[in-house]
Amino acid sequence: MRFKIDAQVYSVGVCPGPLTRDGEPRGAAVHGRELLVSGEVPSLDRLAVLIEQLMMIWEGNAGVPMPRTAFAAFFVNVHRQLLAQGGEPNLMRLGADGVVDHGGQPDHGAEPVGCECGRCGTKFAVGDITTAGPELDGRTGRMVVRRSVFCEFCNDLMNWTERATPAGTPSGHVVVGPFYAKEQAGRQGRIICDVDA
Ligand SMILES: [Zn+2]
Repeated sequence: MRFKIDAQVYSVGVCPGPLTRDGEPRGAAVHGRELLVSGEVPSLDRLAVLIEQLMMIWEGNAGVPMPRTAFAAFFVNVHRQLLAQGGEPNLMRLGADGVVDHGGQPDHGAEPVGCECGRCGTKFAVGDITTAGPELDGRTGRMVVRRSVFCEFCNDLMNWTERATPAGTPSGHVVVGPFYAKEQAGRQGRIICDVDA
């Protein structure tokens, strides 16, 4: 997911575990254009934590506490951006690296689904995604398909693995990933959530 405050776009991700800033536990933190929510924040509380962080971004840009006269416009703006990205339910399902978990769908007969970039939230249709043939995952004994899509916004190749339907097509249930080609050159995934001030 991502939110635009003033002219800047911030991607929202959830840490797999606790989030610290300068060693202190935090519910959320902004680092550059990335807004991270601690995995320890209950999913029902994420929206409040997110809105508080977005308000702090607004106030940081404005240099003053948000005046009451500005709050309605700010709230409507954030609310519309949230709705356009699936609303609070999608925020609650947001996983590590910012990808909404579309799991829980029955594998049988599931339609191939699109995806969104785990970094910037750009949405991709099924036709944008490269899907390999089904293969057996030796670890789980399930049929899976490897998929990838190039995000022009991030200039990186996002790739992940989904469960396959009995027909060998993607189910939308992500088994592992996403990973990014440039990151994979060094390390996989992004689980270090300690950020600098
Ligand atoms: Zn992207």
